[in-house]
Amino acid sequence: EAGQGAELKSMKDSVLAGDRRALAKAITMAESSRKEHRETTSHLLGELAGCNRQALRIGLSGTPGVGKSTFIEAFGMMLIEKGLKVAVLAVDPSSARSGGSILGDKTRMERLSRERNAFIRPSPAQSQLGGVARRTREAIDLCEAAGFDVVLIETVGVGQSETMVAEMCDLFLLLLAPAGGDELQGVKRGIMEMADILLVNKADGDLKRQAVRTCADYAGALRLLRKRPQDPQGFPKAMTVSAIERNGLDAAWDEMTALADWRRENGHFDARRAEQARFWFEAEVRDGLLARLRDPGPKQAMADLAAQVAAGTLSPGLAARQMLEDHLDR
Ligand code: GDP
Repeated sequence: EAGQGAELKSMKDSVLAGDRRALAKAITMAESSRKEHRETTSHLLGELAGCNRQALRIGLSGTPGVGKSTFIEAFGMMLIEKGLKVAVLAVDPSSARSGGSILGDKTRMERLSRERNAFIRPSPAQSQLGGVARRTREAIDLCEAAGFDVVLIETVGVGQSETMVAEMCDLFLLLLAPAGGDELQGVKRGIMEMADILLVNKADGDLKRQAVRTCADYAGALRLLRKRPQDPQGFPKAMTVSAIERNGLDAAWDEMTALADWRRENGHFDARRAEQARFWFEAEVRDGLLARLRDPGPKQAMADLAAQVAAGTLSPGLAARQMLEDHLDR
């Protein structure tokens, strides 16, 4: 007990001091499903909650090949040159190694990964969205406590991972490729609605004109979306960037900070975080209840009751009540 307390205290101090190895270790613990690791993580996060450090949490999504890692490398280096500390977390629930690239792979962000003020964490090999969500939220909290100014959360533009990431970010960016009008239709409206800034990447060389045109198309599409109360005039917006030529990154950062500042001044920033905290609390309770149904006892009871319902000897409503009242206690 005493040893555990001392270990917790030293972990806490090391994370607060911005020790990247301690941070990596704490995230590894947060990723573990072992009971004692979960408990230590909860204690540690509880201890760190009082530190009142706040990073700007930026979600970044985009299909494979659009230039996410190139963008993060260039954007991250720019932030570091501004004197900021940058953490990069990858979220890849499918663990699909799309196009041979691994999200958050350090070799894809070679310069950034060598920076003292950068921390890059690849996606863990885990397949359950719920587990990934909790791990990512806890990793964000740990990075915040470690004093990072910006936490970038990278995700692939497929499935539910974007919605999940958007629910844990202050700002959500969508990286897009220059494309013809037809391909514009391919971006799902729901994803566009989540984005604060659309970045049309590869606005350089032969692709520049196409990128500018694509950006105008997206800007037009954004104007058709319902105006959100948490947005100032002109948002959400579309911009062109070139990750390779490091063009437009400064302008994009200016827009991000302007939006974040506006939301802070108007109370939307904290309100959104409070809403997100509530959302994740409710999601965890739901997940916890569903997990109980998978325990051997309840699972068997469920099967038995289902058989009775199927045989017509018990009504669905009555069986459900019996299940809820008699079989889900621990
Ligand atoms: P990711 O799969 O989204 O992480 O994409 P990558 O960053 O690996 O980039 C995919 C390809 O697009 C690579 O060949 C990059 O060199 C290229 N690329 C990325 N950014 C740019 C850019 O700004 N301009 C151009 N022309 N190519 C880019």
